[in-house]
Amino acid sequence: MDCIFCQIVAGKIPSDSVYQDEEAMAFRDINPKASTHIIIIPKDHIPTLAHLTREQLPLIGRLIGVANQLAEDEGISESGYKVVINCGEGGGQVVPHLHLHLLGGRYFFRAPI
Ligand code: AMP
Ligand code: ZN
Repeated sequence: MDCIFCQIVAGKIPSDSVYQDEEAMAFRDINPKASTHIIIIPKDHIPTLAHLTREQLPLIGRLIGVANQLAEDEGISESGYKVVINCGEGGGQVVPHLHLHLLGGRYFFRAPI
């Protein structure tokens, strides 16, 4: 198991965890690009957005629900926030385990993230 995020799920690599349920977890990004920068992942290893089956599509809605809840918890719901999914090398994805970035607060804008 050489996937960094799978190792975080298994507790083999420490993380600054902020949320957990049966199918998802969220932790603060180790190299934050904004004052709130949280990574939200499914616990199952799905490499990229492109690997999602039709049956797995509702998972994305639930991960967005986690992002919205965390935005509330972080106090950035009203000021606004960005949710980003990079897909594949050409899409800027470095860690090959599907994840959402939740970014907000004091934001050092970089485009694309
Ligand atoms: P991406 O470019 O979409 O694959 O983003 C991967 C993100 O994961 C980057 O923002 C990294 O800073 C972050 N990251 C990598 N390793 C860790 C880790 N061990 N704990 C928290 N965040 C991480
Ligand atoms: Zn993984």
